[in-house]
Amino acid sequence: MSATPRHTRAPRTITLLGATGSVGASTIDLIRREGSGLVPQVVTAHRNATALATLARAVGARVAVVADPAAYGELKDALSGSGIEAAAGDAALVEAAQRPADLVLAAITGAAGLKPTLAAIERGATVALANKESLVCAGALFMRRAAAASATVLPVDSEHNAIFQALGAGQRRDVRRIIVTASGGPFRTWTAEQIRAATPQQALRHPNWSMGRKITIDSATMMNKGLEVIEAHHLFALTPDQIDVLVHPQSIVHGIVEFADGSLVAQMGATDMRIPIAHCLAWPDRIPDAAPRLDLVALGRLDFEAPDPQRFPALALARAALEQGGAAPTVLNAANEIAVEAFLAGRLNFMGIAGLVEETLAAAAARGISAEPDSADAALGVDHVSRELALTLLPEIAAKAC
Ligand code: NAD
Ligand code: MG
Repeated sequence: MSATPRHTRAPRTITLLGATGSVGASTIDLIRREGSGLVPQVVTAHRNATALATLARAVGARVAVVADPAAYGELKDALSGSGIEAAAGDAALVEAAQRPADLVLAAITGAAGLKPTLAAIERGATVALANKESLVCAGALFMRRAAAASATVLPVDSEHNAIFQALGAGQRRDVRRIIVTASGGPFRTWTAEQIRAATPQQALRHPNWSMGRKITIDSATMMNKGLEVIEAHHLFALTPDQIDVLVHPQSIVHGIVEFADGSLVAQMGATDMRIPIAHCLAWPDRIPDAAPRLDLVALGRLDFEAPDPQRFPALALARAALEQGGAAPTVLNAANEIAVEAFLAGRLNFMGIAGLVEETLAAAAARGISAEPDSADAALGVDHVSRELALTLLPEIAAKAC
């Protein structure tokens, strides 16, 4: 039984949604290696036209799309003479996602990724999903549409990719629970007092992972783990009480599946997103040497501890939103996006992030915003109203949290 050498595999096309980001860059690193067999067709970005054009030329894409129509002129100029088609706007982004491609990487950040990712799902694509917010914003709808279109969703998020790999060790009916690990972020050992005074600069200094700004702040508040619990609930059809979180400062064990007989099957790997991304790009094959190999002797030890709900209230907020169901996870995600932006802009202190999310959830419930979104437009409608609510509440929370 010999596997076909990778360089003789038929070339496969790939669409990169969110190509200029951190996950995008790790993916491109893997694609550009000799023999990857992956041919980028479409690359997209928010508004950095110059970066997108440079990247499109470097990978030989056919189409480059910016979401922001104001960046169209710059993109067109930057691509002139290259033969690469330029497009802009939300509709162009959705069209780009609908184009035939063997694989679609969904690596846009935030609820902005929902429509393009769903567009790929609805044409039955194989989607390597990094954009966890689309599952938090409209998870039930997303998974229903994926099933209806026979789309394949491969989890890029390292913990979910680990769970996906570990699930292969047994039968679904024998799964007792899963554990998603968390690094604990830069404030894991800080006192509540110190955390209260944390600056964006400190929060952006993640101890283990190098990622985009939004997810890095989510890691510092541990909202990221809350979003990941919701993501796991949808991806693996598990009840909330089957999904545990464990703080593991070394970020080497990414996820664990506990089976009925008491066996715990874990996936381990270097703290490098190229490992889960490579798993999705080559699945069910493997890409050799996706990242430097792990030296367990040099590492010496692995530590585990329970998350602290007092210093990191965002995790419990996300769990409560999942338990509540309906529109609550959509509201949570939207409020969190506003809170993170406000924190990064110096308009809200660190503890105000969870405070604003909590108040927005309460305000949305008081206004009767509770129905589970049954379409992408309904989800984005709730998202929009929640953002407005959060922005209205922002000055009050910012003053209180001072
Ligand atoms: P990033 O900020 O580095 O990149 C985001 C990408 O999305 C960029 O290409 C940007 O241009 C594009 N984008 C941003 N806003 C947009 C909008 N409104 N419309 C269209 N495009 C837009 O983010 P990232 O760290 O690469 O994360 C991307 C996604 O992957 C997020 O959902 C994140 O939670 C998830 N994720 C990231 C990591 C990581 O290591 N970075 C790990 C796990 C999951
Ligand atoms: Mg993760």
